[in-house]
Amino acid sequence: MKYNNVINILDKLISCKSLTPFDDKCQEYISNFLKDLGFEIEFKKYGDVTNLIARYGSQRPVLAYVGHTDVVPTGDIEKWHSDPFKLTEKDSKLYGRGTSDMKGGIACMLHSIEDFLKHNQNIIGSIVIVLTSDEEGPAVNGIKKLVESGDLSKYDIDMCIVGEPSCKKNIGDTIKNGRRGSLSGALRIQGIQGHIAYPQNAENPIHAFSSTLDKLVSEKYDQGNEYFPPTSFQISNINSGVGATNIIPGELSMDFNFRYSTETTKDELQNKFEKIMQQSGLNYAVNWSHSGDPFLTEKKDLLNACALAIEEELGVTAEISTDGGTSDGRFMAKICDQVIEFGLINESIHKINEHTTSSALDDVTKVYISILNKLLAKK
Ligand SMILES: [Zn+2]
Repeated sequence: MKYNNVINILDKLISCKSLTPFDDKCQEYISNFLKDLGFEIEFKKYGDVTNLIARYGSQRPVLAYVGHTDVVPTGDIEKWHSDPFKLTEKDSKLYGRGTSDMKGGIACMLHSIEDFLKHNQNIIGSIVIVLTSDEEGPAVNGIKKLVESGDLSKYDIDMCIVGEPSCKKNIGDTIKNGRRGSLSGALRIQGIQGHIAYPQNAENPIHAFSSTLDKLVSEKYDQGNEYFPPTSFQISNINSGVGATNIIPGELSMDFNFRYSTETTKDELQNKFEKIMQQSGLNYAVNWSHSGDPFLTEKKDLLNACALAIEEELGVTAEISTDGGTSDGRFMAKICDQVIEFGLINESIHKINEHTTSSALDDVTKVYISILNKLLAKK
């Protein structure tokens, strides 16, 4: 283990019982660590949630590390083979809740910054750290709030690394450079209920909808692009009928979702869907709910620096990917056009016996240091 301090930092963070939305003094420890390195510290509390913003330097470009100190519940504590709030080494693995998601990532960030500043008295630009204790919960009083309230505006963040566990099997196998958008809808189709023996007196919404359903499913909403697969339309629930075998149902309801690429928009998808429905002549209503725009970071300074750092330090060519669930990157993307996610391995996150390894921590730290050198070191 090259960076012993990473383990010490992680040990301290794991011992804080920061079950979402509570921080349990993680940020106090982190702020003291950063103060010693010359950072200016600001706390923003919203409800139960603690947010920390720290800054070193006053020039552009501004590189931000973003992450969360909260963790998901442990689940049945009896099933853990060690105390989830005590960093425990066993069979070359380091166990504890948050070791991968994402106190381990925070430990790598902190140590990489300490190492970088030790070797670079004068840097180009600034380093900003933004941490919240509300990522694993509703995620309303964390990064979302900091972005929407304007708390982050004065920091002029140019580039942002979200330290979430982005890797699948090996450190360096994946950098995330965006996410798909998500648009959901609840459709209701009105028919006329009746006796199954007298269909002439009824209007069966299942029959009436079947050809339109086929059109909705086979429609090509877009082709995707270099970074995104084609937009996907998926039905999650479809219900009709009252349970009796001699009744033609009077209504059909269907829930569906679009995971969409940057090749289309929420409005375009709604218009396409409504057009198909209008052509059907059915009596229908649809309720839309939109939970996130897609975002994409192109191959510019930050993504290039991260991919090159992984290649140089680990000898691995990273896959650049936009798959997976949502993260706070979607909020940062509203104020910053370069947002990537790179961190530890996500295989054990949210599980019983969550773990990482000291070599994984070492590798992520090496990559973070190399990124800092590429972007902020005076040549
Ligand atoms: Zn996380």
